[in-house]
Amino acid sequence: MRIARSIAELDLPKDRSIGFVPTMGALHEGHLQLMRRSREEADVSVVSIFVNPLQFGPTEDFARYPRDLDADAEMAESVGVDVVYAPDFLEIYPNSESTIVSVPVVTRLWEGAHRPGHFDGVSTVVAKLFNIVSPDIAFFGRKDFQQCMVIQRMIQDLNMRIRLSIEPTVRESDGLAMSSRNRYLSASERAIASKIFETLSSVRNGLLSGEIVGDKLVEGEQFLTSLGFSIDYLAYVSNTTLAPLSKHDPNSSLIFAGKLGITRLIDNIAVC
Ligand code: AMP
Repeated sequence: MRIARSIAELDLPKDRSIGFVPTMGALHEGHLQLMRRSREEADVSVVSIFVNPLQFGPTEDFARYPRDLDADAEMAESVGVDVVYAPDFLEIYPNSESTIVSVPVVTRLWEGAHRPGHFDGVSTVVAKLFNIVSPDIAFFGRKDFQQCMVIQRMIQDLNMRIRLSIEPTVRESDGLAMSSRNRYLSASERAIASKIFETLSSVRNGLLSGEIVGDKLVEGEQFLTSLGFSIDYLAYVSNTTLAPLSKHDPNSSLIFAGKLGITRLIDNIAVC
């Protein structure tokens, strides 16, 4: 495996299919699963590691986001990644003010509403990385459900010739979705964090057995709030539009975002 610190060092073959996994590093099993899928589907697998300042709000955790390139490279190598692309800030943002890719509609609610500018940061950096790597297939995690929809919409709207492969959320044994931010949790918060998945599962089961959407959401919110979560949203939404649903629909998901202490966690599950 090679580490490329610049576009010049990337030097990817033109005649083989390229699988691409964009990440911000602090790799865990969720990221590794995307990389294994890339190995299965493409001839050459590229992982980018870039903590993108543009997608962090002014009060968010950009400065303390965990960074350890050597450990990340070792993990990527262990699952057969061919190239880790870890560029400097100036290669990605050569000008003090960047051209911005701004995806409409699917960015308006939920994460878009709670993290202003976040998705512009995501779509801009992913468009840049797509231009640099020229992948045939890009692998993203369903854990960031709305992000997947944003990337899908960008690919369509900008006529990018890239296939998006959305991979299932990888969880800890108690159900907590793996996340680089889980390492911020104290031991007691870590124990409570597993209640997100438990609550999403219980609300899902209620909806599938015909209980009232509004009632189940309130019940879930009250439970998580009582445990100490400060909830941004717990919502039942359409998979295609992300609009809230008031009754059960087979093409739907439950989505959650909230803070436990200083750590903001998100998760979602399909309701079908
Ligand atoms: P990040 O480094 O957090 O920007 O994530 C890079 C990619 O890994 C994104 O496509 C995420 O959706 C995906 N990812 C993060 N956590 C998980 C997880 N627990 N399961 C599956 N994919 C994940």
